[in-house]
Amino acid sequence: MCNSFNQKFLDEAAKNMQDENFNDNNSHSVFMQNAVDHAIEGMDKNDGGPFGCVIVKDDKIIGKGNNRVTSNNDPTAHAEVTAIRDACKNLNSFQLEGCVIYTSCEPCPMCLGAIYWARPEKVFFGSNKKDAANIGFDDDFIYKELPLPYDKRSIPFEQLDRDYALKPFKLWEEKENKTKY
Ligand SMILES: [Zn+2]
Repeated sequence: MCNSFNQKFLDEAAKNMQDENFNDNNSHSVFMQNAVDHAIEGMDKNDGGPFGCVIVKDDKIIGKGNNRVTSNNDPTAHAEVTAIRDACKNLNSFQLEGCVIYTSCEPCPMCLGAIYWARPEKVFFGSNKKDAANIGFDDDFIYKELPLPYDKRSIPFEQLDRDYALKPFKLWEEKENKTKY
């Protein structure tokens, strides 16, 4: 009697746990599919390339975006950057604390940087950078540029007037009413 009760209790607990996992995975998929839908909608409207992104906090979408590079004449208007701007505006914050990013494709180096600055909790991505390269969106060359010496990059970098450029840093250090981040 006692054993069968325990077994029933354990079975139910196991079932609930499975349901919770199922719901959890299911809601991740709902958000990912939403990001993918933004990619398709944006592309159909000729906003830009086939990329979409949503940002979620407490199970609610608080920011969304799709690629708008060609329509906005903005090379930085990638889906993730657009969504981060939208989410931060809606949260009235410069950080994405406790947020999860769902992006239809693995972020490029620019968006990766933006994501690190925004400090979300986690990132889910759909397709990967190899899939993107296969349809002509190859960002691998940027990764290869990063470790190159300044003068060996395809866009040469050269340092100029360092002493003068250090002036704002000195002033920042001394500044009292600053918002650190
Ligand atoms: Zn990007």
